[in-house]
Amino acid sequence: MTAAGCLHADARTSRLMCAHLLPADQAEEHVIRFTGRGVDYVLACRACADAPTPELVPACEACLRECEDSVGGCFGVRGTPEVLCRPSDLTFAHRDVRVPGLAVQAPIAVAPLADGARSSWLAISAGGALTRIDLDEPHMEPVANVDLAPWGPNPDVRIVASPDGRFAAVVAARGSLGVVLDLATGARTLELDRGQYQAKHCEFSIAFLRDEDRAIVVHATKWNRLDLSDAATGRMLSARPSPEYAANQPPPAHHLDYFHCGLTVSPDGRWLVDDGWIWHPRGCMRSLDLRRWVHENVWESEDGASLRDVRLCEGTGDRPRCFIGDNALAVWGLGSDEDFLVDAALLIDVETGRRIRWFAGPPCGRFFFDRHLIVAEEGKGTSVWDVTTGERLLDDPAFAPVAYHPAARTFLSVLPDGVLRKSRMIGDA
Ligand SMILES: [Zn+2]
Ligand SMILES: [Zn+2]
Repeated sequence: MTAAGCLHADARTSRLMCAHLLPADQAEEHVIRFTGRGVDYVLACRACADAPTPELVPACEACLRECEDSVGGCFGVRGTPEVLCRPSDLTFAHRDVRVPGLAVQAPIAVAPLADGARSSWLAISAGGALTRIDLDEPHMEPVANVDLAPWGPNPDVRIVASPDGRFAAVVAARGSLGVVLDLATGARTLELDRGQYQAKHCEFSIAFLRDEDRAIVVHATKWNRLDLSDAATGRMLSARPSPEYAANQPPPAHHLDYFHCGLTVSPDGRWLVDDGWIWHPRGCMRSLDLRRWVHENVWESEDGASLRDVRLCEGTGDRPRCFIGDNALAVWGLGSDEDFLVDAALLIDVETGRRIRWFAGPPCGRFFFDRHLIVAEEGKGTSVWDVTTGERLLDDPAFAPVAYHPAARTFLSVLPDGVLRKSRMIGDA
């Protein structure tokens, strides 16, 4: 480092940061200081946080990111970024559908179910009745009964369906138990148990992928272990020993000190994103290549060559995210400390772990992708964002859907008395 900036060749073309944070591998904690010009910001040290003229020098993107992601990280934000807006003709068209029988089995969780382009859904009641709901010709039919009693009072239940629509997992999102069901027969094909350790701080890791004509379920079997199982038979496909760590010994090969949390699979089924954390607690979102894990390396989720840290942030993980393309993930929140995250969407290439770009404005709501980034914020409404320009195209305070069906391109809201609201985004941006 010199007073002229970091020592890397591309620093001249790059960003400004406070001279006192270099070299970046020894950086102290910083503030994000917005400059008042668009979304421009600089990182400033504690002494420069509120100085009228911080001592800024050029730094390359790598040094900036290293400082931004450093342990201790961010201790505050100064100023605000500009949120861009562009008027559009986009609007949501709603249709309320009364589903016979649903009033007495009010859903506590819903999920989209692949069935061509039909608006087909799974729902589960507080009593554990899992049903398939068709909103194109409104009716519901029973699939199975799931005994929720062992999951404790009022469990936060999640349903995830396989891409081929043949299987579903029902899990306690903050508990340790779950089940995989064959939707044609209602039969249980796999009992899920990830143990209790820190479970309430980790969303249950559960996802499906398609591997040729078979459906594979990815599921946590311990706080630091994911497994692959055949959804049809329950047969484990990732058998390997669990490396046991002994005090005062070097960690064994493949030992993983990582709390697996919520999983997201890319639309093409290639990439798995795990929004987990390391002790204590430091969010570390990771991605891996599922093809490698299924076909080449049984240890891929521990220390495989495709593993990337794609986002670091103090605090436990499980923040809003969704894929916006086969390799590109949108993640909520700019910054590296959960107490000081700025409303924003970070777009990340999960193959390289690199940030593609970011834009300001998207709030901490449920993220969906339907041509644009859609963010539904409970009690506040739904906003629509152009992921190329970062402009807000629509802000609709009237509804906040709970789920999205990518094939039917339909959003779902659960209304009282057995009514479901289908919403579609129409118009041009
Ligand atoms: Zn400084
Ligand atoms: Zn540098």
